[in-house]
Amino acid sequence: MTRDFFNKEHWTVEKATELYGIDKWGAGYFSVGDDGDVVVTPFGADHGPKISLHKIAKEVEERGLAMPVLLRIENILGSQIKLLHETFRKVIKENGYTGEYKGVFPIKVNQQEEVIEAISQFGKSYNHGLEAGSKPELIAAISMMKSRKACLICNGYKDEEFIDLGLHATKMGYQVFFVIEVPGEVDLIIERAKYHKITPHLGLRIKLSTQAEGLWTESGGDASVFGLGMNHIVDVIDRLKDEGMLGCLELLHYHIGSQIPNIRDIRAGAMEACRIYEELVNEGAKMGYLDLGGGLAVDYDGSNTNFHSSRNYSMEEYCCDIVESIITVLSRNNIPHPTIITESGRAIVAYYSILLFNILDVSSFLPPPIPEQLPKSANDLLENLLIAYNMVSPKNIQECLNDALFYRTQARQLFKHGQINIRERALAENLAQHTLLKISQLSKDMEHIPKDIQSINKLVYDVYYGNFSLFQSLPDVWAINQILPVMPIHRLSEAPSRAAIISDITCDCDGKIDSFPDYSHEKNSIMLHDLKDDEEYYVGVFLVGAYQETLGDLHNLFGDTNVVSIHVNEDGSYKFLRELEGDSVADVLSYVEYDIRSLKKRLKHISEDSILKGFITAKERKLILAGFDEGLRGYTYFEKE
Ligand SMILES: *Cc1c(COP(=O)(O)O)cnc(C)c1O
Repeated sequence: MTRDFFNKEHWTVEKATELYGIDKWGAGYFSVGDDGDVVVTPFGADHGPKISLHKIAKEVEERGLAMPVLLRIENILGSQIKLLHETFRKVIKENGYTGEYKGVFPIKVNQQEEVIEAISQFGKSYNHGLEAGSKPELIAAISMMKSRKACLICNGYKDEEFIDLGLHATKMGYQVFFVIEVPGEVDLIIERAKYHKITPHLGLRIKLSTQAEGLWTESGGDASVFGLGMNHIVDVIDRLKDEGMLGCLELLHYHIGSQIPNIRDIRAGAMEACRIYEELVNEGAKMGYLDLGGGLAVDYDGSNTNFHSSRNYSMEEYCCDIVESIITVLSRNNIPHPTIITESGRAIVAYYSILLFNILDVSSFLPPPIPEQLPKSANDLLENLLIAYNMVSPKNIQECLNDALFYRTQARQLFKHGQINIRERALAENLAQHTLLKISQLSKDMEHIPKDIQSINKLVYDVYYGNFSLFQSLPDVWAINQILPVMPIHRLSEAPSRAAIISDITCDCDGKIDSFPDYSHEKNSIMLHDLKDDEEYYVGVFLVGAYQETLGDLHNLFGDTNVVSIHVNEDGSYKFLRELEGDSVADVLSYVEYDIRSLKKRLKHISEDSILKGFITAKERKLILAGFDEGLRGYTYFEKE
């Protein structure tokens, strides 16, 4: 984007929409309001109320919950479940498919009680079920099941206890499927089912040769550690045949990866699985269910491409390709169409959580102004740096860059050898920095930016310090370079003027957001506004509902953030449903095994000792101990008085 784009006089909220791409990744739930606030439209873009996120943020703070806050807009969860089911229903009808669709939510994507409860509530009328991959997830799932027509899929490695839990739920009338992941599980399931005298519903997790593009490519293909290969499948069939239990085998499951960016892989996986499904029917298994796992991707960067943070298909194309693939393969031999199950996690929950934080401070790249005159005694080097600075023009960018870098290196050498003092060195750095800045600004209008100028463009960003921990709240940004949409949630009717990266408040140089969606061709920085003295500046990180909460960790002992959920009514009124206070300092210390009582005892002892040695008075001790007490009760993030 050219400098002219940011012209203050000609700025509009439409430009803000374009700059931050909110119309591309917002999926109709987020947009910029006329007054410059980001608004959420939880029932979709075309209808229903619009609510300002800035207003919500202020109301949250008025209730005494400090930033950072994880904000959940409950209705979006309902909207996404509805969208998935209604899209499948439409496609099923249009294609004359004779089976139905039933979704399950994989609990690992967001295990929080509130989330699972809301999903079962919103999913009830669609018989949307749950998927569990471990004993705790299974117990949580059973306790939340609201419909006996919904499926409860048990994946993961299962011991006796796991199997018994599932069998108990089967007995209570729930549709529990035991998906056999490893050959060894079969005998144990048969044994426990006989023991409890229950006929179990069984499934097979198969290993497909299809491999999906993206970050989870090894979930599929020969290298996958999951699922049964062809030989194992044959063994399991024979084993079940021996027991007279082929009638229990009803489901075929595969999962070739999360966030599958390319629709081609979804189609290829479905086609391959259907061939195996057909063979299982031919072998005499009951069948009836095809579970295609997760993978339905979220367009985090809004590019609508097969880049790993995006997807090159819509929800409708996803449903269409699955339904068509099944029809293509199974209709050849008149195999009845199965009930389709997907374990879509990310696509259901990503949109509904937003991380909100305030900016604490800015460290400007802008060096102090160049002095009118260089000091008389100044080294020639400084003179040369000044000449390079004054000479910069569109025609000789490269030459001036070379000069600036050359003289700066020389200045550093001279300083090392004691030939210039710290003030001269500072002036040299300052001049070089001004030159780089000028070059960087001029290069914005160039068509092709040379490589080494691109690399200086990375050095000329301001650092905005955000009140959050990347490791606690956005772990995928750190671990797998996930790109998430980030933008200020207000002041969007003003042109932003600073190119910035966002740092968190951990003491870790990895704790920063410096990759952004690149539809604006500025993927290493984000444009932000100047801070005002009398107003907080709020930034939102969007689409963080999937995977981030439980994967987050206690780096630097920053704990869970405050969480607030909002339910929006059709008339635009909304209520704060749940407020979960984040971890206190005492909480996080206890997570790393500090015993708070003995910790306090030690502080008392240390302060008593300090009186004895004459450092403090008894009165000061009282104040100091009260300060410690308050500190232990406080939030782990930056608190304003
Ligand atoms: C992780 C996982 C999912 C969820 O995948 P999404 O891409 O989030 O939809 C579904 N099924 C299985 C077996 C998984 O491991």
